[in-house]
Order: sequence, then structure tokens, then C-alpha cells
Amino acid sequence: MYYDIRVTYLYYPLQSLRQGHWFKLICGASFQHRTAVRSLVLAYTLAGVDCIDVAADPAVVAAARDALQVAQSLSQAAQKRGFAGCSSQPLLMVSLNDGEDPHFRKAEFNPANCPADCPRPCERVCPAEAIAFNKDSCSGVIDRRCYGCGRCLPACPSQLIFTRSYIYTPQAIAPLLLETGIDAIEIHTQVGHLADFRRLWQAIAPWADKLILVAISCPDGADLIDYLRSLYQIIQPLPCQLIWQADGRPMSGDIGAGTTHATIKLAQKVIAAGLPGHVQLAGGTNNYTVSKLRSAGLLSQVAGVGYGSYARVLLSPIIDQLETRLEQNSEPPRLESLPELLWQAVAVAHSLVVQLKSPMKVLETSHL
Ligand code: SF4
Ligand code: SF4
Repeated sequence: MYYDIRVTYLYYPLQSLRQGHWFKLICGASFQHRTAVRSLVLAYTLAGVDCIDVAADPAVVAAARDALQVAQSLSQAAQKRGFAGCSSQPLLMVSLNDGEDPHFRKAEFNPANCPADCPRPCERVCPAEAIAFNKDSCSGVIDRRCYGCGRCLPACPSQLIFTRSYIYTPQAIAPLLLETGIDAIEIHTQVGHLADFRRLWQAIAPWADKLILVAISCPDGADLIDYLRSLYQIIQPLPCQLIWQADGRPMSGDIGAGTTHATIKLAQKVIAAGLPGHVQLAGGTNNYTVSKLRSAGLLSQVAGVGYGSYARVLLSPIIDQLETRLEQNSEPPRLESLPELLWQAVAVAHSLVVQLKSPMKVLETSHL
């Protein structure tokens, strides 16, 4: 049998895409907590993910790259424990936006204005432990931890919390693509942003041949399919793979079983439109997504699933332990420094990854 190791190594994630078991870890377009990103990337890579989506921040990209290198050195150890390891590295993706978008914002408030008797519901609802009240250190929203989910806003009875949004200017895109050498980009857009999308794409197009993949993430809206068709015309000719990310209920997968319905419904709509490219779910995806796709008869029709807040929350108790234990020893928080925590994290990550990648599918792929 002809067996090209180079091609297998380079293109394994794309085979997952073609075969319908593409797993993307979404670290968060605004999530800049480098210790957490590094740990997430390391654990999920050893568990066998195909793509890692991080904030378009060079420091965050560097943390992810560092974790990918460590994963490479631990790949055999992972395989001996029955995990996928990373004989082929996942694609590294960054997310960009063409206009205001909840994925690209941070919450903010001045804790000095909070009533002394407030029971601090904001702190309780935050899934990222991004709100802190400390006498000596910083209080309020910890910027690098906040990923803009917005749950704290309605929780505040005094309406003190607001958000600030940011948009990547087209001028900032080219250096980002060149300097960080990333494999893929994801553009977050919404129906009605056509002119902004076109402007952003004009900045990206000269570098598109350096990319392996472009994803376009869009929530549902009136005339969605016409809008996606217009985007498709704008990005032609596209020299790489294309994913339509059906962004059902953004940043909500950790809330519960019901959040996955919106993305399944949206994916169904995009699949029915027959647009060229792959369809991948995100936004509300969680432990229920694969089984619900299967029972809806859609599992074989989607290219894969992206997991964000649910995947992060799964590992947050382990990452918290890592930070606490290593801070006590004044060591930099590296997950591989505590092997028992590392393999615990990989096992938890694997429990989610394996839902899409049955052993049979992985076996088939390794011989292609
Ligand atoms: S609840 Fe969401 S928006 Fe508010 S601080 Fe936490 S992560 Fe940020
Ligand atoms: S809920 Fe509002 S008032 Fe209460 S602590 Fe949080 S930000 Fe302050």
C-alpha cells in the first residue's frame, strides 16, 4: 500500500474535515488568559483535536505554539495511555471580525460604585472567574479572563456593567498573518455586514494562499443564505478549504442541554442551501451535540463540531488546581510540570473528543 508520511502528517486535520469528524477547540476570540490557553491547547491536542482557534493576539498565539511543541514531545506517552497523541499537529486558527460582534468584547465596571451590600451576582454567573473582589489586588473584571459572554450584564441589579467592543482593522491583518504564521483564519460576520466583510477580505486576500483553511462564522438571520452566497462570491477564487460555521447560540455551550438546538437547526438550514464548502457547528455545542446530531440523522452531513465554553469549563477545575499548586511553589504554571494533572486533563478532553472520533474512524483515517 502506498503510504506517504509527509502527506499524512500535514493533512490529517483536513481528512477529518472531509470524513465528518473534524473537532475544533475554540479557546475564545477574546480569551487572553495565556496559562489557561496553553493548558487547554496541550490537553486537547494530546486528546486528538484537528484545529485550535485562539484570539488574534501574538502573545496568545505564542502560548498555543509552545503548547503544541510540548504536545509533540508527549505524543508517544499519550498514545501509550490510549489517547490519540499528536502524530499530526492540529491547525492553528485565529478569529477576526468585520464589525461589532459579541465574541470581540470585554465587560467592564468600576467596583468603587458597587453598593456595599450587593450580594455580587455578577461574580457568581461569570463562567470564566473573570470577576474578582480583592482588597489588595485588582478588583472588577480581569480583562485577560473575560471572553465577552455577557452573562454578568443582566445579573447586575444596579446596571453598572457595560462592554467595550473592538474590531480588527484591515491594516492590522497582514502583519498578523505574516508574523504569527498561522494556518487558518475565521471571520465572524453577521447578515448586513457585506461592505465591511468585503473590506476585511481585501486585506486578507493577498495572503490567502498561505492559509490552509478559511472559516466564516455567522449567526442566523433574515436572508442568511443569500448573505452567505454573496460572501462566497467575494472570497472567490479561494485557494484553500472553506468552512461555514453555524454559530447557533454564541458562547453558551456550558449552560445546559438546550443550547445545542439552535446550532443544529442552523446547520440544517446551511446544509440544505448546498453552499460549496464544509458545514461545522459551534455556539451552544456541548456533551449533547453529537447524540442530538445522530438522532436528527445529521451526523453524517456535517463536517464537524467546534466546542468553546463547554470545552473550557470542562477543564477549568484542573487549570484552577494547576495555578494554585504552582503559585504556591512560585513556579510558572505549566501543565506538564504536574503529570498527574496533565493526564487527568487529557482524559477529560478525550471524553469529549472521542464522541466525534470513534476508534473505527481514527483507524480508517490513519491509513489514508
Ligand atoms: S460573565 Fe462573561 S462578559 Fe461578564 S466578565 Fe465573565 S466572561 Fe466577561
Ligand atoms: S452585581 Fe453589579 S453592583 Fe453588584 S457587585 Fe456586581 S457589578 Fe457591583
